[in-house]
Amino acid sequence: MRLAEFHIYQKDLPVRYGPYTFAGQQVWSLDTTVVRLVSDTGVEGWGEVCPLGARYAPVSAAGVRATLMQVGEALIGTSITINSIAQAIDGQVNGQSYARSAIDIAAHDLLGKAMGVPVATLLGGAVANRLPSYFATGIGDPDDIAQLAADKVAQGFPRIQIKVGGRDVAEDIATVRKVHEAVGGLARLAVDANRGLSARDALRLSRECPDVPFVLEQPCNTIEEVAAIRHQINHPIYLDESMVDLNTVLRVVGVGLVDGFGMKLSRLGGLRPFSAFRDIAAARGLPHTCDDSWGGDIVAAACIHMGATVAPSQLEAVWLSTPYVAETYVPEAPVTVEAGHVNLPDGPGLGITPDVAQFGAPVASFGG
Ligand SMILES: [Mg+2]
Repeated sequence: MRLAEFHIYQKDLPVRYGPYTFAGQQVWSLDTTVVRLVSDTGVEGWGEVCPLGARYAPVSAAGVRATLMQVGEALIGTSITINSIAQAIDGQVNGQSYARSAIDIAAHDLLGKAMGVPVATLLGGAVANRLPSYFATGIGDPDDIAQLAADKVAQGFPRIQIKVGGRDVAEDIATVRKVHEAVGGLARLAVDANRGLSARDALRLSRECPDVPFVLEQPCNTIEEVAAIRHQINHPIYLDESMVDLNTVLRVVGVGLVDGFGMKLSRLGGLRPFSAFRDIAAARGLPHTCDDSWGGDIVAAACIHMGATVAPSQLEAVWLSTPYVAETYVPEAPVTVEAGHVNLPDGPGLGITPDVAQFGAPVASFGG
């Protein structure tokens, strides 16, 4: 089975209840890139990658599409295995994990559909079909965020992620304390700065909340800042944005700098490298989430299939952006969060079949 067609689509995803706020940034709409692979036997596979705006990560949606266009011709005629596809990309570009992620997800979807098995089976097999999710609060008034957290816990979310950073840390501390008063003991808490705290403010936040059990996620911009305060911090440290590839994961695991991770598919390059990450984290007993920065139903389904293969004791939760997105690619069965949990989609591949008409004309096509 070889690749016969490769199509690239662009779509704007408006943010429901916008804007989405984090670490001094706001987004109202996001630019997603969808890819469709078609085999010479007529089987389709869908992939997607959606950076969280141009300021969040060192990647842009237009840059992703430029890379996809650069590798497109070399993919045509390639044997459809995960390794062959990765080698074809290696022959054209170095790095480019975000563009790779879209193709990798699509290749897994296509292979799963061709073999009649779920993507989770290709990744080692699902160990759970219903997974915990978590709610990310955004930045806001302490009382409003506490009320929001209470509402979400009442809906069934087992984990609340409080966004902090980008403002007076006293407001962040007040928010953490009020959320703890509202839902302490009823849900696990993460405090995520998305790199937005100075080392000074991260220390103060931890020291002024010694009685609040939370994990502190990516407090500072660099690994070095986190390392400098690591042993003065009361709380477990998770890293997210600094984990730009598997080598960096190995580096921080090797020196004991982390207690867990917020981890995203596209930053590592898709499902294949995430599977390697999953196994490295398990070898050191380091829990982690299974997320992506943003995206529609395709990214959401990929995160669930990946998360379903993580041992429940290792899986913090799966975060989906689809509840925040005002559109779905599969109106009859959107991939979303119910009562704070996500369900593994039924059927082969990713278990979803987007309607190609929703994406308009491709911005580029190869083969066919
Ligand atoms: Mg995070």
